[in-house]
Parts: sequence; C-alpha cells; structure tokens
Amino acid sequence: MSNKRVYTFGNGQAEGKADMRNLLGGKGANLAEMNLIGVPVPAGFTITTEVCTEYNLKGKEAVVELMRAEVEAGVAATEKVMNAKFGSTGEAFPLLLSVRSGARASMPGMMNTVLNLGMNDDAVKIVAEKSGNEKFAYDSYRRFIHMYGDVVMGVEAEEGEHNPFEVVLDELKEAKGYKLDTELTAEDLKELVEKYKAVVREHAGVDFPTNPWDQLWGAVCAVFDSWNTERAILYRRMEQIPDEWGTAVNVQAMVYGNMGETSATGVCFSRDAATGEDLFNGEYLINAQGEDVVAGVRTPLEITKIGSQRWAERNGTSEEERQKNFLSMEEAMPELYAELNEVQQKLEDHYSDMQDMEFTVQDGKLWMLQTRSGKRTGAAMVKMAIDMLEEGRIDEKTAILRQEPNKLDELLHPVFDQAALDAAKELSKGLPASPGAATGQVVFSADAAEKWAADGKKVILVRRETSPEDLKGMYAAEGILTERGGMTSHAAVVARGMGKCCISSAAGLTVTGSSMSINGVEYKEGDFISLNGTTGIVYEGKVATITPSLDGDFGKMMDLAEKNTRMYVRTNADSPADAQTAREFGAKGIGLCRTEHMFFEGDRIWKMREMILAETVEGREEALAKLLPIQREDFYGILKAMDGFGVTIRLLDPPLHEFTPNDLESQKEMAEKLGVDVKVVTEKVEGLHEFNPMLGHRGCRLGNTYPEITVMQARAIIEAACDLKKEGLDPKPEIMVPLIGTVKELKMQEELIRSTAAKVFEEKGVEVDYMVGTMIEIPRAALTANEVAEVAEFFSFGTNDLTQMTFGYSRDDAGKFLPIYIEKGILKQDPFQALDQTGVGQLVEMGCQKGRAARPELKLGICGEHGGEPSSVEFCHRTGLDYVSCSPFRVPIARLAAAQANLR
Ligand code: PEP
Ligand code: MG
Repeated sequence: MSNKRVYTFGNGQAEGKADMRNLLGGKGANLAEMNLIGVPVPAGFTITTEVCTEYNLKGKEAVVELMRAEVEAGVAATEKVMNAKFGSTGEAFPLLLSVRSGARASMPGMMNTVLNLGMNDDAVKIVAEKSGNEKFAYDSYRRFIHMYGDVVMGVEAEEGEHNPFEVVLDELKEAKGYKLDTELTAEDLKELVEKYKAVVREHAGVDFPTNPWDQLWGAVCAVFDSWNTERAILYRRMEQIPDEWGTAVNVQAMVYGNMGETSATGVCFSRDAATGEDLFNGEYLINAQGEDVVAGVRTPLEITKIGSQRWAERNGTSEEERQKNFLSMEEAMPELYAELNEVQQKLEDHYSDMQDMEFTVQDGKLWMLQTRSGKRTGAAMVKMAIDMLEEGRIDEKTAILRQEPNKLDELLHPVFDQAALDAAKELSKGLPASPGAATGQVVFSADAAEKWAADGKKVILVRRETSPEDLKGMYAAEGILTERGGMTSHAAVVARGMGKCCISSAAGLTVTGSSMSINGVEYKEGDFISLNGTTGIVYEGKVATITPSLDGDFGKMMDLAEKNTRMYVRTNADSPADAQTAREFGAKGIGLCRTEHMFFEGDRIWKMREMILAETVEGREEALAKLLPIQREDFYGILKAMDGFGVTIRLLDPPLHEFTPNDLESQKEMAEKLGVDVKVVTEKVEGLHEFNPMLGHRGCRLGNTYPEITVMQARAIIEAACDLKKEGLDPKPEIMVPLIGTVKELKMQEELIRSTAAKVFEEKGVEVDYMVGTMIEIPRAALTANEVAEVAEFFSFGTNDLTQMTFGYSRDDAGKFLPIYIEKGILKQDPFQALDQTGVGQLVEMGCQKGRAARPELKLGICGEHGGEPSSVEFCHRTGLDYVSCSPFRVPIARLAAAQANLR
C-alpha cells in the first residue's frame, strides 16, 4: 500500500481523479474529478479505502496515529478554500463538515454518515450570528447531536420502543401543538439541543463531545466500523462485493440548503432512469437539507417544468394549482436551474453515461455534492446505451459492456406494477428460482391446474416439490411455488425453461395435499397469491402486472452482441414451441433436448409405463414400438423448428421410477389401465426404488441394460431427420449419450446408434449427417476425456450433475443447507447457479484440453443451468467452448454475456 492516506480536493484542484475509484471509492473519485473539470464542489478530502483495510488489521488507535498529520493537513486545506475555521471560537465562520462513507461499488444506505460535524455550544452561536439565522443554526446543531448520537455513540431505541431523540422531539411538538418540524422556533430548537444532550448522557453514559477534533475522529472511525456491520456484510454477500475492498471516508465542508428561501437541495438524473428517455429530471426542495428529500418529510417538487407538468397531469393537479403551489425549480429559480442544467450536461458529457447527482443551493450559490452513474431499469439500460451509441458518445464495446445481462430479464417477463407491489403484503420469501411475476389462485395438483386453467382461471401451482408428472400443470399455471428444492430442482429448471415464474423453498410454507399454510396461516384452493420470481417474494392476494414490450432497442442490442461474439448460444428445449421461442430470441440450435419430458404429455405415459412393466425384451420392444411414432413426430417438429442448426437430442436419462406413480390409488389405476394385477405394479414400483436414484440406474446405464430403448430413440431421431431431408430441409441431429463415466459405456451406445442409423438410411433411401457425442457430467468422464473423445464427436458439459458429483451435494436436497452455507460464508455463491470455477471449472478445462488433444475438431458446449448465467458464460468463453446452451428466456442474457466475455 502507498504511504499517502489522504487526498484533498477543492477550488478546481484535486489530488485524485475519476479512475482512482479503487483507492478513493466511487464518491471520492468523482468528487475529485468534478473539481478538475470545473464543477463547483465544496472542498474536502478523502481518506483512502486502504486505510479501512489497515484499520481492520491494526485497530483504531494505531490507524488514527498513522493518518493524524494528513487529516489535519486536509482540514487546514479545507479551511483555506472555504474561508472558515474548524473549531472556531470567535472571528472566523466555523467550518462544519460532512463525513460520509464511499466504497468502490455503491452500497446505498449500508454505511454511516455524519453531517454538521464541528457544531458545539460556541460554534452554534457564531453560526447564528454570522448567518443571521438562529433557527437554522440550532436546527443544524440538534440534527448533529441526533445523527452523531445514533451513528457514533450508539444511542438507539430499546427493543420495541421509539428512537429516544424522536420521542423527545414528538413530546415537544405535541406540547406546542405542532404538526411539522418546520414549525419549531429557535427557542424550541435550543430547548431540543439541551434535551438531546441529556438523551446522550442517559443512553451513552458520557457527555456529548464538544471538541470538534474528538467529534471528527469519532465519526471517521464510525464510518470505518460501519464497513463491518451485519447489514453491510449481508449486502456485500448478496452483491458479491469482496470484504477486502473497504470503504473510503469523505470529509467535506458542509453547505446548507436550509438557510432560507434562496437555498435549496435536490437530487437529479441526466436521463430518465425508468424509461431511458433523454430528459433531465429530478426533485428539489427550497429551504431544506438533503435528508429531508430522502426521508420524505416534505414532498419534493420537480426540477424541470416539463417534469412538473407531467407530474400534475398524473396527479390530476390543475395548471393553476401547479403554478401556485408546485412550481418547478426551472420556474422558481430560473438562473440557478440554468446553471444546474449546464452542470448536469457537462457531467453526462464528461462521463458519457447517465448521471445521478446531488446538489445544494446555499444562499443563491449552486454546489454539487455527488455524481455517479445512475442505477436504471433493464429497459432504460438498453435504451440509453443504444441512444448514446447513436449519438456518438460511446462505442459499441462500451455499449455492450455497460449492460447487466441479467437485467434483460425485466424485458422478457411480465413484471409487477410498482405501485401495486408497494401496497402488497409479503407472506414469505424463497429462492428466486425463475424470474417474472405471477398472480393467480392457488391449486395443489397438476390436474387441478389444468382444469382451472381450462375454465379460463389464472392459477399458481403450489407443490411440496414438483416431478415430471406435474409438467402439464406447470404449463397451465401462471407460476409455481414449492416448499422444497433448490435452484436446479425440477421445478426451477422446468419453470425457467418455460419462462414461467417460480419460487422454491419458500420460508414458512407447508404444503399438505389440499391446502397450504404460510407461517401458520391457512390458505385453501382458490385463494389468490402473487409471486415475484425475480426476488423470491410471495405476496398475499392479487398484484397487478404489466407485460413489457420488446422494442427496437432490444433488437439493436442483440445485433450488437451478435456482431461482437465468438461463442454462440443454443437453447435447452423439449418442444417445437420452446424451440421456436428460443430461435426468436436468437438461439442457434438446441444444446439439450431432454427426451423424457416428452413422455408425460397426454396418454404417452401409459405406453412408457407399459414398457417399464414388461419383463422381457420382446415385451419392452412391443411397448417401445408404440412410443416410436410419437417420438419421431416430436423430433420431426423440433428439427424442423431449428432447421439448419444443430439439435442435440439426449437419450433417456432419468431413473425409471420417475415414470411410475407413488401412491396406491394411482398404482391401482395403472394396474387397471394396463390390465395387470395391482400387485404387479406395486412390486415393480418397489423394485425400482433406489436409495440414491441420482447415482443409480439412470443415464446411459439404462441404454446399456435395455439397448432396445436406445435403438428405438435413435430410430425415431434418424427417421424424422430423413423425412425432413426428403422434404428439402436441412436437419442436423446430434445424438447425445448421458451420464457416461467410461468410454466403454459410450462405445456400446454409439455402436447401437450407428447400426440403427445405417438401417434407417437403407430403408428410407436417403442419408443425413448426424453426430454422436456425450455429456460430460461425471468427474471420471472429464478425467478420461482423451479416451472419451476417441468415440465422441462432441462434448456437452452437464454442469448440473458435474457440480452435484464434484461437491457431493444432492441437487434435490442441497436447498436445506446451501442457504446457510452462503450466509455463513462457507460458499460465496450457490454452485448450482454460478459455476464453481475453481473446482468444477478445473474438470471442465481438463475435459476440453484432453478432449481436443485427442480430437482437435471436437465440438464443445455446456448445457447445465450455468449456460445462462453471465459469470459462467464468461468462464466458458475463456475455456474455449464453442457454445453455451440455456433455457429459451435466458438466451438473450447469454448472448450478451458471451459478447461481453469476448470484449473484456
Ligand atoms: C446436467 O446434468 O447438467 C444436465 C444438463 O442434465 P440434467 O439437468 O437433465 O441432469
Ligand atoms: Mg445431467
């Protein structure tokens, strides 16, 4: 670390600049930069983020000594620029300071701030005298004691009680019959100051510090301490901000928006953060402090005239009324507005990005207190980047890198109307398994979901967990809520594939057959609830939704991504409809078609069950013959929808018990339907039971023990492809063998596939190009990838199973402990969501290297859920994969992430 701990700024000069964000934090770097480009900023200095790290290592006393001289020099420099004196006792105007946190990445509201620092019994008198505004002086003083008492001295409300400062304030207001704080007189405020001091004495056990230097060290240390509060740690974990970064501390001269009618304060944006429209906007208040705007004590007014007129229109306020009571800053303070407008444009031009700014007007002079790139909605993010590109402000690379891929979701799924959401009651929070918004009546079975939906009702399917049997119900439902399961549970994976909102592992939810309870409150079939799959929050009743439209800017952004990518994106899809959706989103092929999903539709399940019940090869072949035309028809549809692109079709993968019913009632139904004794069914079901089905009789182990299944599926695929070829289309089937651990397992399957294909070609009198490859989802397959690649023409990394088997975490049970692991910091992220690059990633890299060493033209892809997650997509790019494959609604996200990876 460098020896310089403090960087000063003021009066058009600064020791720091914008690109020193890591050292000075976002706020500090921009305060320096604003000085350098001639924007009026109150003078001050920034204590670096490295000092925070030092503080955490060496402790308070040592670090205060290390920075003392530089901080003193910083205060002296600030005094000089502001023509004021810190701890003044007479002549000079007292220098009052703000002390604020400012990390590298914005952590809004997570850390501490102290304002009006330097106030004491002497300073307040001088401020009152020199400003000629006693009320203002004492108001600043009492605000300071309150804030400092809270933040530095730990004066807070006892459990279940109100904040003691607020209690004192309310008592006084009540005694005087005031409604608003603004009614307080100078005398009231003087009285409050004394009462606040007493509150401090009572709660902190010491007197409020009167020495400004003691106040300053207390505040600086409190900001550093706030880096490690529980909420800050939690926020960092959620946003993946490393603990080592630390926060900077910005110490800056106070300026006041509450000095009278020629003073004001406000927040503004250089463009509309919600829509992206290039329209300067924001809110301000005359004679107020920044906290009044934020806290909503008074209702702020619009800055621009057009903003004010739009506001009046929305509120049904007449133009006459607006002009009387709600004048915009543009109308009320035209000269200052013109100056502010110029500054905002200057800042946007300088940073070439939408700015979120804070300003204060002190007695007719404008000061900028902060500027940063503004947070924005997904729609605004896309629009602003495209607009700025077309305006020639940024280049393609910047436009692409400025996108947060996951935010595209907001453009693809219905979202809740914000006002409706604000008013809604939260019932529970679970995992945000599949994004979007859904409102409907709860039902507890797939059959009910189908039936209600057929009657035109909107339903939410609530299950303890889902299984493939629930598929049709999931299709019919608006959203899915489950008691159990993680981010790669069946419900989560399938819902994401359908682009349907899903929340899994909802806290406090218990599902029992025909009802559910959430934290003890009972809900019955037909009750309304709403799900926000993006946040994982479950709401009571109906919450209104809106469907965002995909406008031209979205398409332009996708074209930019296309132009700048190396890797391409495929989709995981099991039906022609999903394939079509994904193709519209820009998918170039199918990376995973899970054939088993097709067996649950209509009465197909009975043919499957017939096959399972068969005890002989002949019996199975007879049942399979009935499945053949159905499968052929499905493959025909999918290959057609993806004509010209590769379509990877995976052979049967799940353990067979997933196709048989668990409860006796359904087993009886199965026996009846298939004309066998119920005992035959129950014994079969028992026989299929496994202790670890995920490690049991599944994947290629099925095809190797029942080769006739593989033969049927290979035939269905090749026949469909031949039929399409005859129609003049260009089908490109890729047959994928799942779950292999040894090359022999693959070899046996490959031989079956190739001999079947040869037969079909002869019968049909036509040939198609096809490939045979495998999934790499068992560690041993990755370790022996050179052997596997002797047979496989392509690899697709099944990182769901690969993660499961590398960590030894069951995909279906990890929901019980993973959240705790993440909370405790044992894991930084859920490895089923974001690929574990250090561990599982090594196996992927090894698979690629060894595979390509044996077969240089080996095609490489990924089809686990990670294929749609931006950091994993970047890893895949670095590792040299040809494509990633993900559910249809994540295709645009993956495309953008792939382009970003290519440009970084
Ligand atoms: C995988 O394991 O990553 C995969 C895609 O297969 P499934 O999720 O169907 O097991
Ligand atoms: Mg798998």
